[in-house]
Amino acid sequence: MFSFQSIHQYHSFLDKNENGCSIAVDHYLHEIEKKQHLNAFLEVFAEEAMERAKALDQKRKSGKPIGRLHGVVVGIKDVICYKDHTVSAGSKILENFKSIYHASVVEKLLQEDAIIIGRQNCDEFAMGSSNENSAFGAVRNALDEARVPGGSSGGSAVSVQAGLTMISLGSDTGGSVRQPADFCGVVGLKPSYGRISRYGLIAYASSFDQIGIFSNTVQDAALCLEVISGSDDFDSTVSEKPVPAYAAELTTAPRKYRIAYFKQALEHPGLDPEMRATISELIAQLRQEGHIVDPIEFDLLNHIVPTYYVLTTAEASSNLSRFDAVRFGYRAPLVNPALNDMYKASRSAGFGKEVQRRIMLGTFVLSAGYFDAYFTKAQQVRRILLNKSVDVFEKYEAIISPTVPSTAFKIGEKSDDQVAMFLADIYTVFANLVGIPAISIPLFKHSNGLPFGLQIMTNHFEETTMLQLSDQLMN
Ligand code: GLN
Repeated sequence: MFSFQSIHQYHSFLDKNENGCSIAVDHYLHEIEKKQHLNAFLEVFAEEAMERAKALDQKRKSGKPIGRLHGVVVGIKDVICYKDHTVSAGSKILENFKSIYHASVVEKLLQEDAIIIGRQNCDEFAMGSSNENSAFGAVRNALDEARVPGGSSGGSAVSVQAGLTMISLGSDTGGSVRQPADFCGVVGLKPSYGRISRYGLIAYASSFDQIGIFSNTVQDAALCLEVISGSDDFDSTVSEKPVPAYAAELTTAPRKYRIAYFKQALEHPGLDPEMRATISELIAQLRQEGHIVDPIEFDLLNHIVPTYYVLTTAEASSNLSRFDAVRFGYRAPLVNPALNDMYKASRSAGFGKEVQRRIMLGTFVLSAGYFDAYFTKAQQVRRILLNKSVDVFEKYEAIISPTVPSTAFKIGEKSDDQVAMFLADIYTVFANLVGIPAISIPLFKHSNGLPFGLQIMTNHFEETTMLQLSDQLMN
C-alpha cells in the first residue's frame, strides 16, 4: 500500500517504481473519495491528475531530467487561479468563474512537475478563522469531525492532515495558513511579504496577503518554498532577492539561538492556561539547552487585532469592488435594469454575510470624516509595530509565541460572536502587519486530545533561520 512521509522518501519510492506517480495519484483519489464528508475539496481534477501522473512516469522512464517537485500531489486553495479551472474564492458570486490564466505559483509548481489534484474549500474570499464562512459548507477537522479545522485555508490544512494531498497551498492575510495548521496538527508557513508572487491570487487585503504552504514536515515546506518563491514580472511587490536553497540549508548542524517572546502575549488572559504552561516549559527547556530566551515588553498587544481589521477591511472594500456583476461573476435577474439596482441586487445575493460586513466596515473606515480617525490611525500603529520588530530583531533572531490562544473549537460554537472570533487572531496578525515570515509547527498536544502549535517569526527574508530553528525543534 502507498504511504507518504516526505517528498524525499516519496522520491526514493519513485526510483524503485516506474509507475510510482500513478500509484500515488490513484491512492489520493481513493482517499479523497473516502473522506468526502470532510468537505475539504470543492473540486477534484481526477482525470487530468491521473493523465499527468502517467505522463510523469513516462518522463522518468525516458531518462529526461525531472523537476524538484516531480509527482508531488498538491491541492490549491480556491483563491489561486489555475487556467481553465473554476476558481470561486468560496463564494456564490464566483461560483461559475473560470480562470483564464495561471497564478505564478501554479506555473512554478507545474514547471517542477507537481500534480495539482484539486481546489480546496475555504472561507469566502479568505475572510474567516473557521471555514464556516464558505458558501459551500463548513470543512470538518479530521481529528474530531464536530470541530472546525480553522480558517480561512481550512480545506488545504485538512487535506494534509487527513492524507488527501502531500502538500497544499493556502493564503495567509492574518493567519489563514498558520491558524488552521495549528488546529490540524500540521506545518503551516507564511513567508515574508514579497517572497512569493501574488499574481493570480484573488486579493483580500493586498498589503497583507501572502501565499503559504501546508506540509507534514519542515523539509517539505522548505522545498516547496524554494520552488514557488522569487521575482515575477507580473507582481511588482515581489522582491528581487535571490531565493536560497531552503531545503539544502536544513542540513546544517543544530546550534543555539537568540530568541525573544512577548511577555504580554504569554500572560494574556485569553490564552488557554494549559497552553501557557506548555510554552513556558518549552522556554525553560530551551534555556537549559543553552539558547537565549528573553521576555520582551509589548504594550501594543491589544491594539494589533483592531489595527488589522481596520486596514484589511479597508483594502478588502476596495479590492472586492471589482465584483460588480459586469466584469465578473453572478448577476441577479432584474425587473428594473437600472445600473445601481443591478449592482445592489447582484452583490447582495452573491456575497455572504461576513464578506458584506467587511465591505461595509472597510467603506466606513475609508469614508470622509472617519478616514483620519480610523485608517490613518491604524497606519500609524502599523508603523510603530514595524519599528518594534526592527528593535527586537536587532538583538534576537526569532520571536516565539503560541499560534492561537485555544485549540480547535466546535462547529457553530463561535459563529454568533464575531468579536471573539476576531480576537483569536491575536498572535498571527503581527507577522502580516509588519510583513515578516512566520510558521506554525505542530509541537504540542493538549490534554483535550487536540494538537496545537508553536509560532516562530523571524526578520524580513530570514526564512532560512526560521526553517532551521523549526526543523531543530521538530526533531
Ligand atoms: N482570520 C483572519 C481574517 O478573518 C485571517 C484571514 C486570512 O489570513 N486570510 O481576516
